[in-house]
Amino acid sequence: MSDDARARGLGLCSRCHVRKASLRLDYARMSLCDECFVKFVERKVERTLEEYKMIERGDKLLLALSGGKDSSALLHIIKSLAPDVKLTCLHIDLGVEGFSEQCRSKAEELAGQEGVELEVVELRSFLGCTMSELASRRRKACSPCGLARRYILNYYGNLWGATKIATGHNLDDVLAVLWDLYVAGDLLQAVRLQPVTKHAHPKALSRIKPLIELTDFELKAYADIKALPYSPAQCPLGRESKLNKRKKLIDAIESMRPSFKHTFFKTHVKRVSPLLGPLLMARATDWRSCAKCGMPSKGEVCGMCRLKEDLKKG
Ligand SMILES: [Zn+2]
Ligand SMILES: [Zn+2]
Repeated sequence: MSDDARARGLGLCSRCHVRKASLRLDYARMSLCDECFVKFVERKVERTLEEYKMIERGDKLLLALSGGKDSSALLHIIKSLAPDVKLTCLHIDLGVEGFSEQCRSKAEELAGQEGVELEVVELRSFLGCTMSELASRRRKACSPCGLARRYILNYYGNLWGATKIATGHNLDDVLAVLWDLYVAGDLLQAVRLQPVTKHAHPKALSRIKPLIELTDFELKAYADIKALPYSPAQCPLGRESKLNKRKKLIDAIESMRPSFKHTFFKTHVKRVSPLLGPLLMARATDWRSCAKCGMPSKGEVCGMCRLKEDLKKG
């Protein structure tokens, strides 16, 4: 990182004015050294936690630890900021050949390092097949994968008496999805994307995204500076490819107009969402309990139970 700093001539850190800056944050008009950058990231998460009241007294968190940079950073930061918070990590082994093995071993390594409980659930035990097997049978494996991951997190969260699910979604992840929803005019779906998501169904646990104001770049830099174990691999089944295209587009805008991302996010949360929130509340009663498993469902039978049935039929 210091080579990069020299190459870009970043000079001294904008915060401490003593050490050499190692990276530049254009949107914040700052160049920071490693130490000040780490503090900057942690402070930002602390403010996000406070602003959206993400962790409250008595909360028991289920943290989705994928083995990637974001959730690894999330675990490390939460342990630093709130060492006493009750927390269990869940890793879902998707069974994607050449990908999931490394994710799982990094998640295990980090949990050991942080001294937290880690449960590993294999997707196969839920679905009867791995993601690789499912992908060989279906053209689109990404939406069933997302469905299964959401279901499993919620299922175990309930089983363990968790009050909230914490995920590592960052600013770039959220904006990439929001972009498509805004372009499609699907504002009701867009409004569901919030720093804290609450559901009307008693078994649908509230979700928090403490990293929602940090970018991919910042979280990778943080994980690297802290030397956290994480897997840099991308899922070969392509889930990230569409998302990455949107991220590149938004990065291009950000490079021409620094702070575009933060403006987009604030506009969504502070301006658009309050206008549309009441509409969403009116529809919240749509949720009911799945006739088969009792988990939250839009219809008679939930998506997960339908997927299982489909897979049995072959
Ligand atoms: Zn500094
Ligand atoms: Zn069900």
